[in-house]
Amino acid sequence: MADQQDASLTAHQQQATQVQQALRATFAAGKTRDLSWRRQQLRALQALLNEHESEITEALHADLGKCRSESIVAEVGFLQADIKHTLKHLERWNKPRRVSTPMVAWPGKSYQYPEPLGTVLIIGAWNYPLQLLLAPFIAAVAAGNCAVLKPSELAAATSALVARLIPAYLDNDAVQVVEGGKDETSALLAMPWDHVFYTGGETVGKIVMAAAAKHLTPVTLELGGKSPCVVDTSTHLAVAARRIVWGKWMNAGQTCIAPDYVLVEAGLLPALVAAIKSEIIAQYGESALTNNDYGSIINARHLQRLQSYLAEQTLEYGGEVDVSACRMAPTLVVNPAPDSALMREEIFGPILPIVAVDTMEEAMGFINARPKPLALYLFTDDKHLEERVLANTSAGSVCINDTMMFMTNPNLPFGGVGSSGMGSYHGQAGFDTFSHLKTVMRRAFAFDVPFRYPPYTDLKLKI
Ligand code: NAD
Repeated sequence: MADQQDASLTAHQQQATQVQQALRATFAAGKTRDLSWRRQQLRALQALLNEHESEITEALHADLGKCRSESIVAEVGFLQADIKHTLKHLERWNKPRRVSTPMVAWPGKSYQYPEPLGTVLIIGAWNYPLQLLLAPFIAAVAAGNCAVLKPSELAAATSALVARLIPAYLDNDAVQVVEGGKDETSALLAMPWDHVFYTGGETVGKIVMAAAAKHLTPVTLELGGKSPCVVDTSTHLAVAARRIVWGKWMNAGQTCIAPDYVLVEAGLLPALVAAIKSEIIAQYGESALTNNDYGSIINARHLQRLQSYLAEQTLEYGGEVDVSACRMAPTLVVNPAPDSALMREEIFGPILPIVAVDTMEEAMGFINARPKPLALYLFTDDKHLEERVLANTSAGSVCINDTMMFMTNPNLPFGGVGSSGMGSYHGQAGFDTFSHLKTVMRRAFAFDVPFRYPPYTDLKLKI
């Protein structure tokens, strides 16, 4: 048994070594530096998405019960918009960036020259298995890198589709897909990459960072955490409830930036709970479990994890489960104990705890007593409160009066802070993540002022 395991590990290591050596040779040959090659690759990916939209939406449905609309908006459409934006700005992003030069270095000019990092590893997560694998890839290829894509094995249909389509459309000398789970990923992580871009949970994030540290490989970690949603009495309740329901129950709550829990002033709690209940019904009907727009849970293990949270709670709404379809209805829990698993762990599913607070200061204290979240939502019409929350809390991203919509703006870098991650991407931030901004100073031969050269004298110091 041990011998078998060693043999399979060795096979994975051999595969990882071969893949990396081939891509390194391509990078060394300079093929990926050419802007027209990069554009051609981005257009090839565009064609892949256009020509296989139905197969992609079917795979996402098989993996997560994702309805077509969500797959188009949050996966295929997101990537198409990302490619379009990247193609439009690529030339500008890739140009040397002039910065000012202090008088001491006159006459001279200073620049940052973006250059590709080399050969990078991108490890995807299962909840948006296409978007979270290919959005970093768009940035990596735009910046002129070779890339290995490791899709999540938990979204098996999408992983298999990516492994079939990428080699058919992209340049195999520069882009490779390696499928698999822990063993395959560990073998890849043992190699010296020029960057590792990982999306997933904190536990594996630490493994990724430790493996990368052995080679001093820089990492981007797109992690998760409990994203709070604060609702203030001055808010427009009906719209707030509609947007909270949309952000929470898209993909059955399996979204890294979904509101994890709501904090609301005690006086508004009953009205907010009623508004959220009626919005759930408006968006998913009386029986979400049988609604085609409502997704399923990725696998039985995660469904059991979610059920275990409910075992110790009194339910305000929902809680129904269809084990055979791996589904859990939208579920509300009011005022769970702060030390319960539901309030300690990232829920990553369709359960929304709603917690009453006496003041907005208490809400901020609640947030600040926990690890820094990936996203923070605030519903308020009060500008002063907005400023107080922005000044006194920390989060990867903040969205005021909506949930998740900041993701639609490629000019906003996306990433976590503290335990919700490090580094960012989307738009130019992604291009820069996969580039080294090489510092260049160009000096003129004229005016070669002698003061800086030895022999040093007191007179030279004074000048
Ligand atoms: P995970 O961390 O278990 O897996 C992610 C990837 O790591 C997979 O490709 C998997 O094959 C690989 N992997 C798993 N175990 C490994 C090991 N021992 N060694 C090496 N590689 C291994 O994924 P998860 O925790 O189920 O994902 C959910 C988490 O991801 C949540 O916390 C969520 O918030 C977070 N997430 C973050 C973002 C973001 O953009 N910030 C997006 C989606 C999900």
